[in-house]
Amino acid sequence: MYKITLIPGDGIGPEVTNAARKVIEATGIKIDWDIVNAGLDVYKEKGVLVPDEVYESLEKNKIALKGPITTPIGKGFRSINVSLRKKYNLFSNVRPIKSIPGTSNPFKNVDLVIFRENTEGLYSGIENKPSEDSSEAIKIITKVASLRIAKAAFKYAVKKNKKRIAVVHKANILKLTDGLFLDCVREVAKDYPNIILQEVIVDNMCMQLVMNPHQFEVIVTTNLYGDILSDLCAGLVGGLGLVPGANIGDDLAIFEAVHGSAPDIAGKNMANPTAIILSAAMMLNHLGETQTADLIIQAAIKTIQEGKFITRDLGGLSSTDEMTESIIENIKNL
Ligand code: ATP
Repeated sequence: MYKITLIPGDGIGPEVTNAARKVIEATGIKIDWDIVNAGLDVYKEKGVLVPDEVYESLEKNKIALKGPITTPIGKGFRSINVSLRKKYNLFSNVRPIKSIPGTSNPFKNVDLVIFRENTEGLYSGIENKPSEDSSEAIKIITKVASLRIAKAAFKYAVKKNKKRIAVVHKANILKLTDGLFLDCVREVAKDYPNIILQEVIVDNMCMQLVMNPHQFEVIVTTNLYGDILSDLCAGLVGGLGLVPGANIGDDLAIFEAVHGSAPDIAGKNMANPTAIILSAAMMLNHLGETQTADLIIQAAIKTIQEGKFITRDLGGLSSTDEMTESIIENIKNL
């Protein structure tokens, strides 16, 4: 029996995390969920965005499945997602982008993984207002954080037998910050002579990805570029409803979809549950439950390929619940 923190989040979070729970339950894996919540709904009720019990649960269990959390726009609210990643040093944001065979997308066989630095860059949250008419944001790049994300990406490439890693940067303009990041990745690359390092400037990367994504296998980049490229890459394989993610540190890991809380479809039983279900599969892989993780992935792929019970974002008419039920049916029959 595993003890795992579950943070339902807000917007579509409660609907999709509930779907992921049901899917895991159908595999027979026993999880004692420690359910704690953060975000807008909690703020309305308790006046705090992240109650202490969330931190206590994360520190006790060291592993969590998390729904999206909305950060209210405006002064005084720091992003909860960013705060959790920084507080627990979850330095690798790992986002696998993989085509599902049989779906109609401009590209077939896209298979790449983004390693996004998760603790600094332009997400350091340091903004100033030097005058009434100007604002500034501070981008922080450190050697220690750049080296550790580079090492994580190269280790992954070796484990998965990948031949290439693309470092995405803007060092031609941001000579000190992105320059340092690039130098760190080059330094780590020296230890891996069998892996080709592709150095790509971020604007060119956007064009390359939409013209020929197959030239990339692993992408390592700074926080903001990683965030933007993740959504771009999601678009290559069918949209945000399909792309899972993990925030991994030395001591603690939080698994969550790439998508946000999608307020436009929240509470309508319309959200595609695949992204969080695949995030749950990543979590099971992390726990060493590889066969069960694979079963979940195959079941979700089958539902999408059959196309009978898919949500609107994939061109279907089914609800979140119907799509989830179909995945569960496949788990029973595979
Ligand atoms: P954030 O800034 O919080 O990361 P975002 O800007 O990426 O959020 P989302 O909330 O992810 O925005 O939503 C972007 C669009 O994608 C919305 O139109 C939303 O409805 C759609 N979308 C996101 N997730 C899903 C999902 N699981 N199923 C269907 N549509 C989704």
